[in-house]
Amino acid sequence: MRYNEVMKLYNTLTKQKEEFYTVKPGVVQMYSCGPTVYYTAHIGNLRAYVCGDILKKTLRFNGYQIEDVMNITDVGHLVGDGDIGEDKVETTARKMGVHPLEIAKKFTDIFMHDIERLNIKPAKHIVPATHCIEEMIALVQTLEEKGCTYRTSDGIYFDASTFPNYFQLSKGNLAGNIGGARVALGEKRNVNDFALWKFVGPNTIQKWDSPWGVGCPGWHIECSAISMKYLPLPFDIHTGGVDHIPIHHTNEITQSETATGKKMCNFWFHNEFMKIDGGKMSKSLGNVYSLQDIIDKGYDPMHLRLLFLQTTYRTVLNFTFDALDAARENYRNIVNALRRHRTATAKTDPKVIADLRQSFTDAISNDLNTPVALAVLHQTLKQPDSADIYRLVTEEFDQVLSLSLATAANTEVQTETIPDEITKLAEQRLAAKKARDWATADQLRAAITAAGYQINDTPTSYTLTKN
Ligand code: AMP
Ligand code: ZN
Repeated sequence: MRYNEVMKLYNTLTKQKEEFYTVKPGVVQMYSCGPTVYYTAHIGNLRAYVCGDILKKTLRFNGYQIEDVMNITDVGHLVGDGDIGEDKVETTARKMGVHPLEIAKKFTDIFMHDIERLNIKPAKHIVPATHCIEEMIALVQTLEEKGCTYRTSDGIYFDASTFPNYFQLSKGNLAGNIGGARVALGEKRNVNDFALWKFVGPNTIQKWDSPWGVGCPGWHIECSAISMKYLPLPFDIHTGGVDHIPIHHTNEITQSETATGKKMCNFWFHNEFMKIDGGKMSKSLGNVYSLQDIIDKGYDPMHLRLLFLQTTYRTVLNFTFDALDAARENYRNIVNALRRHRTATAKTDPKVIADLRQSFTDAISNDLNTPVALAVLHQTLKQPDSADIYRLVTEEFDQVLSLSLATAANTEVQTETIPDEITKLAEQRLAAKKARDWATADQLRAAITAAGYQINDTPTSYTLTKN
């Protein structure tokens, strides 16, 4: 393996690209904030986990072993900002008339299935917050002993003014800390104070005894307690989306460093957000897509993964279906080129292979520059047909890209010819949709389905497949 390859990684803590190092030689100890399991993760959430996966696969490619931990937030994440409102999992459970753990299990299972379909390698330790309540209570007790907490009528709070370095992560990364800015202070002493333990009423199902009264943990304490349980401090990398910088991760650092007197983590890795059609995803706009929605529209999870890799993790990604169509086309071109290399008997000069490997390694090791790595992939595929190229791409590059390239190149091409009369019906339906004649469009869809074909809409056109 290539252990000790120089790798550069942007560190939110220092606000610069740094040469990567680890505490334990050759081993990366890493913590990732996992999903809050009260809904099906949308493709924006999934982008966060693909970015984390590329990071881990690049580290492995460079010869590191990974010891990784991810939490599952099944309690503690409240609906409102600033420690107000009900628990998200509990609220969904109430609406659906089931136990919160049933909700958590359902959405954890969907999440695990989705990450598998996106070739994301799960962390070695996946830890639901409800499994570590004892550790969280012990941590809050430590903070209490250090004189950094106070009690209000609704819980135990951390007094952020006791931690002098409170803005170390958010400063210069966002417009200052906005913790609690939009909510009334209530009984909180300072705007940045946050709940460590919340008291709950008799109707709350997920609750535990504690030295302070019956309640449930705050959201941030779970990540401090779980990371400390599995990893010695300081560990090497902590990951999550940029939205976590000003509050969640800031509060994690505050708790862990106050409790232990040690630095929590050396590298803070944050992926930028994904937008849809240039704006926010929102239920009211009907543009919150899950992976299953994307599959139902006729795409493969690898088309979405490739779309993600076409942009660096630190750039806002604008999702459109046109861009996904282009990624699908790109994927097909890659696979078709690989098929030619696979069956070739010619060899490639080992020096050419070594140079291409080096260019690929340089690209991904430079703060995970996946667009440049993909450009190297295309340059590689343009070489004269050779089994050496096939092996370089499928056995080496794809360790990082994880686009299932060998599987796709070994799958026989489905030459599916769509009869002219079906294409005609689909064209008539597209015209009817453009004229907003929904009744005719529905009749035409029914005719296409009855003939044994499936039509899937894209924003500007359609795709047809045989059932
Ligand atoms: P949550 O389940 O809300 O805790 O979010 C799971 C992960 O998805 C977190 O790391 C978030 O930062 C990340 N995330 C949420 N929305 C987006 C988005 N639109 N684009 C990229 N990452 C996101
Ligand atoms: Zn977290």
